[in-house]
Amino acid sequence: MFRDVETICPFCGVGCRIVLRVDRGRVVGLYPAENGINEGKLCIKGWSAHEFIHHPKRLTAPLLREKRSGTFRTVTWDAALSHIRENLSAALDAGGPAAVGVLGSAKCTNEDNYVLQKFARAVVGTPHIDHCARLCHASTLTGLSETFGSGAMTNSIEELEKADVMFVIGSNTTEQHPLIGRRILRAMRDGVARLIVADPRRTDMARCAHVHLAHRPGTDTALINGMLRVIVDEALADDEFITGRTEGFEAFLGSLREYSPERVADITGVSPEMIVAAARMYGTAEKASIIYAMGITQHVAGTANVRALANLALATGNVGKPSTGVNPLRGQNNVQGACDMGVLPSHYPGYQPVEDDGNRDRFSRDWRTDRLPQQAGLTLCEMMDAALDGRTRFLWIMGENPALSDPDTAHVRRALEAADFLIVQDIFPSETTAFAHVVLPGASYAEKEGTFTSTERRVQRVRAAIEPVGSARPEWAVIAELARLMGYDGMNWRSAEAVFEEIARVVPQYRGMSYLRLGGDGLQWPCPDAAHPGTPFLHEHTFSRGKGRFIPVEHVPPPEQPDEEYPLVLTTGRSLFQFHTGTMTRRSPILKERLDESYGEVNPADAVRAGIEDGDPVVIRSRRGEIVTTARVTETVPEGTVFVPIHFAEAAANMLTLRELDPLSKIPELKVCAVSLKKRTRSQGEA
Ligand code: SF4
Repeated sequence: MFRDVETICPFCGVGCRIVLRVDRGRVVGLYPAENGINEGKLCIKGWSAHEFIHHPKRLTAPLLREKRSGTFRTVTWDAALSHIRENLSAALDAGGPAAVGVLGSAKCTNEDNYVLQKFARAVVGTPHIDHCARLCHASTLTGLSETFGSGAMTNSIEELEKADVMFVIGSNTTEQHPLIGRRILRAMRDGVARLIVADPRRTDMARCAHVHLAHRPGTDTALINGMLRVIVDEALADDEFITGRTEGFEAFLGSLREYSPERVADITGVSPEMIVAAARMYGTAEKASIIYAMGITQHVAGTANVRALANLALATGNVGKPSTGVNPLRGQNNVQGACDMGVLPSHYPGYQPVEDDGNRDRFSRDWRTDRLPQQAGLTLCEMMDAALDGRTRFLWIMGENPALSDPDTAHVRRALEAADFLIVQDIFPSETTAFAHVVLPGASYAEKEGTFTSTERRVQRVRAAIEPVGSARPEWAVIAELARLMGYDGMNWRSAEAVFEEIARVVPQYRGMSYLRLGGDGLQWPCPDAAHPGTPFLHEHTFSRGKGRFIPVEHVPPPEQPDEEYPLVLTTGRSLFQFHTGTMTRRSPILKERLDESYGEVNPADAVRAGIEDGDPVVIRSRRGEIVTTARVTETVPEGTVFVPIHFAEAAANMLTLRELDPLSKIPELKVCAVSLKKRTRSQGEA
């Protein structure tokens, strides 16, 4: 007899609702839920989200690395937790709380993440807690918090397609967030919206756009400033909105002086006419939405790019109303939630700064601890540096794979190797578990209760369809048990629901939520009390910070430019058929059939220069390392640029990328670096 259990897709941040079909304790299939943001549809990743659950490679029991042989042996949970407790106590005795670094997960539930950060702060006392939002949307958080007072998507997915103009920049939406891409294309098809796409690549979405701005990688700020200059010069700015709702406009105006369409054309490679056309289209719209993703954020100028987009929305009054706003699309299912839960070195749950004495006092009382750190901690990339130079000795990584996902992975792997003790909680062996001293089997999304928060701030229920495989356990329950073993009595929850009740108590944006209320379509935060219906769009009458703030931004070129030795620009991204580092999707037969190998997109002119034909094996090299992949000769990439997807360990794009950080948000420059390209032949090596 089948049983159907409704839950949430575990891949991108759209938050599509799926129904898992269960037969005799196994998930045997799935179908899309009729309601919800996905309107009874799924992308190909969503359709295959059941395929990895019972994969034979799943981690099913705790593993402990033998000191002498370096191999793993299976142990009981009691043995694993007591080994961790001994080593954690030793690390605390030797180096104090600051010797411990903890990384949460944008794939795990809010409950898992809340408990992990509470363990780090209240039990261990370390300030070093972060997660992979540092690599995707840290600059969104910084940029939008400063300008609007909240770092989240301002509007809702449903509203996007009711805009007159959609400005998509740095987002290959039809591949990265397919069910949002579908809505954008539908609005165009129905003649509701006009579409501007800014992307160096000629993606499917760019091909459909009314205006495609194929700017050079790393020139986003200049492009947006150029559009703003046209809007101001042609009196398309919304003076009433600027006067009534914003501050800092006069100083900001002066900063546009250097961004004439002609100068911006020199910087970006986009013609002045196209810049003017895009500015007029956006500037004359009644309701214009900005939609962006990691093409904007993953730069040393990531915060500047986000500020520039906020300036554009403020100058035209396109924020605080339905179908407008600045809308960052989150890459993973629960990036928004992990940030909300305070898996950030600078903020407690609910974006409450850790350096505020009042917040610290309140959380000390609530969590019954005197261990809360006084300062903000290290970010993800800084923790890796600290592991290498011996400041961080003990690392706990939950549900992430930094040995593949982080920039300059050779550096990251050296850091993981250097740690005295590394715990990895995951559902599959990965490039990162290979470095662990203890591996703890986690429960997949189909095996635990909890919540995910989608890109539009919608908190939705995740439901257990089956028992965890083998002796795997939900991550939060394991961490809570370790806390009890360490003598802490503030983690005595009996269920994920009890954890969520505590979340609702300490996170102001979630205060009016409960599992009962989240049962249907979920709720969008802020939801301040039990009668509140949730908030589809932010900043309606006032910004979260009071007034919207213009912040002048200048174009800063990417830190590494092409030269004689490395004459091309590498940019990276994702494919429709794979997700993140492939730990789940590369175990799906459907998705493997569609794409299971890396490739490098090369423009035909660059291919001719390098003597490369479509399908040739090629070596792509940067100052950090090299990869071997297969050339796809295509006009999708402009001359001088190579594109490599991030999913494949055998040709890990991040072997090539830079560790240089945005000084404000500490996000690394993952989108632009200089590379060389050569054909590789079997007999000769490189030709
Ligand atoms: Fe899952 Fe995203 Fe596809 Fe929806 S669009 S089915 S959330 S991967």
